[in-house]
Amino acid sequence: MGRVFVIELEGPAYTCIECHTHIGVPSDIISKEIEEVFDIHDNDIIYDFSRLFNTFLAENTFYSALHSIFCVGCANIIGIYNISQVDEGGPTTYWAMRKRLHGPEGSDDEV
Ligand SMILES: [Zn+2]
Repeated sequence: MGRVFVIELEGPAYTCIECHTHIGVPSDIISKEIEEVFDIHDNDIIYDFSRLFNTFLAENTFYSALHSIFCVGCANIIGIYNISQVDEGGPTTYWAMRKRLHGPEGSDDEV
């Protein structure tokens, strides 16, 4: 098996709901909004992060403009990365689903 390198973030961090791998920090959140998640058929709060850690991208089967974001620790889906937005000169943002994350300090509050 290949060795997985996991970055430990300093200070408060959002972590994977499944395996507690560090995923992002509050200061990298651009905005928070409620959206219908594309292939999950569920409404969730989406956090727009300017970057994420310990994740990898995979092409979405149904929407080629969208790549799914997975946790390197457990390979569970964390969110969506929109390629077309970036191709059109838009900002690079990583949409993380709040339900897939533990909040900083272990909080699961929707904030
Ligand atoms: Zn995980």
